Amino acid sequence: MRITDETGKLFYVGGVVRDELLGRESFDVDIVFEGNAIEHCSKFGEVVRVNPDFGTVRVNVEGVEIDFASTRSETYPRAGHLPVVDKIGCSLKEDVLRRDFTVNALAKSVKTGEIVDYSGGLNDIRAGLLRVLHDGSFIDDPTRIIRALKFSVRFGFVLEENTRRLQEEYLANINYDTCYKRIKKEIMETFNLNSQEAFERFYDEGIYKLVSPVAIERPEVNVPEIVAAVGVQVPWMVYVGGMDLSRLELTKQEQRVLNDFETLKNTPLDDDFEIYKAFDGTAPETLALYAVWAERRPVERYLQIKDIKISITGDDLLSLGIKPSKQYAEIFDAVLKEKLKNPLMSKDEEVRFLLTL
Ligand code: ATP
Repeated sequence: MRITDETGKLFYVGGVVRDELLGRESFDVDIVFEGNAIEHCSKFGEVVRVNPDFGTVRVNVEGVEIDFASTRSETYPRAGHLPVVDKIGCSLKEDVLRRDFTVNALAKSVKTGEIVDYSGGLNDIRAGLLRVLHDGSFIDDPTRIIRALKFSVRFGFVLEENTRRLQEEYLANINYDTCYKRIKKEIMETFNLNSQEAFERFYDEGIYKLVSPVAIERPEVNVPEIVAAVGVQVPWMVYVGGMDLSRLELTKQEQRVLNDFETLKNTPLDDDFEIYKAFDGTAPETLALYAVWAERRPVERYLQIKDIKISITGDDLLSLGIKPSKQYAEIFDAVLKEKLKNPLMSKDEEVRFLLTL
């Protein structure tokens, strides 16, 4: 993609600058214009979308969609809720200083390639430190505590001392009147990294209290191992499903995973047959949730026996002269129970067995 700038007012900002300095690939490119981006940047290509409230414009530049933002300053009239835009077209400095961490507050001039660092972000990148830009940062926006966990897991960074103290202070005095939609988004992004370190720190540092004040003990299990064994593709719920998620506005499907988990907790799992019947057809997320937050052993057993299937069908029973009725299910269950004890049973052996019933 080719963007040229003669004004010196166009800057790459945030993650893309950080990622380049870290030698990592960036997935989205944020560009700000010090001034009104809608007026200045629409000329770079075909305008896809404009948002005058935020001063942003999405432009298709040679087949790549790029978001250009006007520099803007923000304030938080209600702590924990979305900020309001104070001024569109403020100075670059004001724009970067509203951001979450110094490592995300770097800008790079499109014209000269020079890095603009108003907050010591370059030093913090070198030292591997996550540092907030002011002491009220977590009060303004507690989602930053989860973002810190996410970035520290992704980059191997640690919280700078004062930032750690501010996190502890906030977690000792949480404002539950907050925007949980954003908390949910950060929780999803953090735990979809599938990281044991994130799991341990989330509970051990008390970060989970952002979601629910009810005390919870972290299970001593390796979650990524369970996620891999069960084959969960999108694992975030496995990491947090043991606690009260009612503040997170779950989708129907997410709620179903939790409900199924609750039902399983009250289902006897004392032998292979009970385990098979309880877990058969259960979503992988629910299975993994059970393994992490209830008991691992029955899930491991289920994974060993889940491919055992009986061969006889309704047609076989019919040809043996057994009339279709509720009895069919009982017969299938009895054969399955036997086959779980003797997985190598052939179809003939199944038939012989059912005739003894
Ligand atoms: P990545 O996309 O690689 O996860 P990113 O840093 O680009 O990382 P985004 O969530 O896309 O993360 O945010 C883009 C930029 O917006 C950040 O780099 C940061 O400067 C700013 N930002 C995002 N969320 C917040 C927040 N909650 N508070 C303050 N600034 C934020």
